[in-house]
Amino acid sequence: MRRTNTFEVVPQSEQDETILRRLLDASASLWNQLTYERRQRFFAGENVWDCDDYYDEYVDILGSATTQQITRVNDAAWRSFFETVEEADQEVSPPGYWGNQADGRDLRTYVRNDAYTIRWGERSRLELPIGSQLKDEYGFGRAERLRVAVRGEPHWQGNQGRLHLSYDDVDETYRAHKPVTVPEAEQATPTGSDVAALDIGANVLVACTTTADDQYYYSGQKPFRQFRETTERIADAKAKLPAGQQTSTRIQRLYRKRSRRWDHAVNALLRDLVQRLYDDGVETIYHGDLTGVLGEYWSVEANLKARTFWAHRQCLDQLANVCEEYGIDVAATSEAWTSQTCPECGEREQTRRHRETLRCPCGFEGHADLVASRTLLEQATNTAVRPTARPVRFQWDDHQWYPIEGNAVASNE
Ligand SMILES: [Zn+2]
Repeated sequence: MRRTNTFEVVPQSEQDETILRRLLDASASLWNQLTYERRQRFFAGENVWDCDDYYDEYVDILGSATTQQITRVNDAAWRSFFETVEEADQEVSPPGYWGNQADGRDLRTYVRNDAYTIRWGERSRLELPIGSQLKDEYGFGRAERLRVAVRGEPHWQGNQGRLHLSYDDVDETYRAHKPVTVPEAEQATPTGSDVAALDIGANVLVACTTTADDQYYYSGQKPFRQFRETTERIADAKAKLPAGQQTSTRIQRLYRKRSRRWDHAVNALLRDLVQRLYDDGVETIYHGDLTGVLGEYWSVEANLKARTFWAHRQCLDQLANVCEEYGIDVAATSEAWTSQTCPECGEREQTRRHRETLRCPCGFEGHADLVASRTLLEQATNTAVRPTARPVRFQWDDHQWYPIEGNAVASNE
């Protein structure tokens, strides 16, 4: 079973960052040269495997292992392209470039599985091979490798595969993806038998209640604000376009920035939540199917938000992927009435929702999204859920979700 550990790579000095950038940029340059020649040959009906050997041109910067690795990954991309062409009926595009003319090359590389080392501890670090020219320029010893600090947690243990390193220019972060092969016997299986239910909303991204007595909610405040700001910048840029022009490189870049930022926040959220639920002993997660009541208690703006921003399907797919890694089951359940049912007395008709708060004539008052996830959980498990622990609220800082102290119900989103 293959799993991936993802972590941040944080060069500790300007020199280390320069070396890292040169490594990633030269890798992209090699990839693009290979890809260019192969595409030319392909479209001219020639053999793509006959292309030039770029080894000598790059080995002094990248080192032997990485030069070969990039070439191999490129070979594999073309092989899989030809296989797909044979199987598929529709048009398939040949492998593309890393980056484009307008934005320049994407900074990324692949490092062979036996050529890098990651040590976790007080000062976790990654060691990468570099070419002889870089070693000479920066005073490295012959056998010395580049050492860079890493931040994160290795969830999975096992035989390491090739490392994928890339630079995200949206949040200015270097990231590493390290695939590992986890032995079947060591596969994750939840230790408990608890159940959780998620309410996926517009203001609060996800609210969650578990039968283990926990409540979590992830504030959409910051991701939504960033989304809105970028949308406004797109509108401004569109207004300034010359007559007859539909788009520009700048506008395209803003669209990319908007969706990458959003995806990053949502993916990090799901990973954070599922890890947390796994640690809590949750073995099944229910989510609402979003049919029925959508819109009824949401303001027009919130409804628009939900439609525009929340790629619901995509989010649930990602939830299923992450849960599969942890051996947690995922199931959909009807969301009808959940956002307006009073959890204390069961009243549906007389409850009122104002912004974040659900109020009932019986005197109940609570955070509407948390209430919804609690009701969803009660419906799914057919048992009463009476959470006693204080809900934990999480906020996004562009890198991770962190818990905020304080009363969730009184918060002003
Ligand atoms: Zn009530």
